[in-house]
Amino acid sequence: MHSCSVCDRPLTQQELHQVWISIRVTTDVLPLLVNACSPECVDALPDGDEDYIATPHKGGNVHQPQPDWD
Ligand SMILES: [Zn+2]
Repeated sequence: MHSCSVCDRPLTQQELHQVWISIRVTTDVLPLLVNACSPECVDALPDGDEDYIATPHKGGNVHQPQPDWD
């Protein structure tokens, strides 16, 4: 059982909105998969790093560099 990453409402399969956002952790920018319950909650997400991908987006069609794990 998942809950919305924005408002903590329980998610159902019908109202699951998954988007990738980019977050900066110290010097690294990491992709983060967010589960949101509505487009409004997607809109409430912070913008991604400005040097990266500026707005939340659906995964799949956008090519993102993978984070460096070393
Ligand atoms: Zn929500």
